[in-house]
Amino acid sequence: MQMNPSLTGLRCIRCASLWPPGDYPEGCPNCLAARHPATLECRYGPSPRDGAIPLPVLAPVTLGEGATPMLAAEELARSEGVGQLWLKCESANPTGSHKDRMAAQLVSRARLAGASRVAAASSGNAGVSLAAYCAAAGLQADIAITRNCPPLQREAMERFGARLSIFEDSLGRWPYVADLCRNHGAFAGTNYLNPPVGTHPYGVEGYKPIAQEILDVCGVPTDIVVPTARGDLLWGIFLGWQHLLQSGRVARLPRLHAVEPYARLSRALATGDARGQWEGATDQYSIAGGTCTLQALEALFRSGGAPVEVSDPDAVRARQRLEHMGLGTELSSAAALAAVPRLRRAGVLDAESTVVLMLTSDGRRG
Ligand SMILES: [Zn+2]
Repeated sequence: MQMNPSLTGLRCIRCASLWPPGDYPEGCPNCLAARHPATLECRYGPSPRDGAIPLPVLAPVTLGEGATPMLAAEELARSEGVGQLWLKCESANPTGSHKDRMAAQLVSRARLAGASRVAAASSGNAGVSLAAYCAAAGLQADIAITRNCPPLQREAMERFGARLSIFEDSLGRWPYVADLCRNHGAFAGTNYLNPPVGTHPYGVEGYKPIAQEILDVCGVPTDIVVPTARGDLLWGIFLGWQHLLQSGRVARLPRLHAVEPYARLSRALATGDARGQWEGATDQYSIAGGTCTLQALEALFRSGGAPVEVSDPDAVRARQRLEHMGLGTELSSAAALAAVPRLRRAGVLDAESTVVLMLTSDGRRG
């Protein structure tokens, strides 16, 4: 396990300032001082000859994450009136969600940086994943959860040896995690700012290989639909495609669309400012919350994609359709399927479209 020597630095996605390699869990220091949290984007020297997508940590701690199945859903494609429909099944990852890709890079970096503990705010997939990867790496996980954390998730975190702190509401967790990270030497496993920034850039990089895996199966799709809260997955997939484009492996980017349970990104897009608070109630647990991030806006803007609101009843119907095909998903993953007819009606998708749905988790623990 070592840092990638071709990682040359990081660049702010908002002000374009450059920073040396290191840990920036609060994003760009300049933009933070201006009260405008902004993600930093990793920069690498020349690509290795094997063409592999570069990641910050080489030979990271692993539980076998990545290389998840991609299923062709021909009947769904016909009934939705699109050319091809593919299901990227991230529930095949070791703890049952896409978060394992991020945890492998993030926890490995924490160990290389000399940290003995990782602190995170999560009542869901990220908390379970970080707990497992910390166990694999020999680090302590401190997870701040809410009182309504699903029992299966909570038990999984405890079995992996995480220390849990319980809070009344979601926002109450962030100051606690901030204190652990700023004053007690913990490595940040999730955002703790409000307004939020993306998770540690080295962690988000772990999502980039998804672009290569999709390319290997179906070429460059026209559209990828991603359930989105703070936009780590959306942005990480974008970074993967951006690398493929810049290294000449593909000639264009797919459009990335963000599925959300109520209007956050669509309102933020209207003003260009991601810092609002847009509360709403939803059972789509993994993409809930009243905030969004600049990185999510940038992924939509740079790829030409759109935000899509999906109601809980529509997500429930979509989940039933997937279950009738033998696929179990959590509600926020099924929302990706529910977004397809909306995009079709809006004229974004048509009979020529090749669409990939990110099925982020199967809900075994949710
Ligand atoms: Zn900046």
